[in-house]
Amino acid sequence: MAYDDDNIFAKILRGELPCQKVYEDDHSFAFLDIMPRADGHTLVIPKAKAQNMFDIAPGDLGHLIACVHKLAPIVRDAMGAEGILIQQFNEAAAGQMVFHIHFHIVPRWAGEQLRPPAQTMEDDDVLAAHGEKIRAQIASA
Ligand code: AMP
Repeated sequence: MAYDDDNIFAKILRGELPCQKVYEDDHSFAFLDIMPRADGHTLVIPKAKAQNMFDIAPGDLGHLIACVHKLAPIVRDAMGAEGILIQQFNEAAAGQMVFHIHFHIVPRWAGEQLRPPAQTMEDDDVLAAHGEKIRAQIASA
C-alpha cells in the first residue's frame, strides 16, 4: 500500500483540517489527540511522508524521535504528570488507524486508568486549555 496523501494527518499538516497545534519545527509537527487517552495526549508526526516504521527513512525517524525526546518532559511538566507513556503502532494488525507515522506522548498518573483508544471526542475548550498549557511550557523551556 502506498502513502495516501489524503490521510487525516497529511491534511492537518497542510492546514486543511484544524488541530490543537503545540509545536512545529523544520522536520516535525505536534498536536493534541482529539480522542485523548489521558489529558494532554500529544501526537508527534514527521513532515516527511511515511506510513510507519516500515517505510520511514532513518534520518527522518531520527528527527522524529528527537522531537519526541524533546517534548515528552515538556508535556509531563505542563500537565503535572507523574510519568509518560510513548506508543507507536505499525499496521492495522498492531492497532494503527492513521497511516502517517506518529508517536503518542501520553501523560500518566499512578492509579489512573487510560481511556479506551479513539473512542470519545474531547471538548474543544478542554483541548484548547491543554494545548495552552503545553505551549506555555515550551515557551518557558
Ligand atoms: P493510531 O493510528 O492507532 O496510532 O492512532 C491514531 C490516533 O489519531 C488516535 O489516537 C486518534 O484518536 C487520533 N486522531 C484521529 N483523528 C484525529 C484528528 N483529526 N486530530 C487529532 N487526532 C486524531
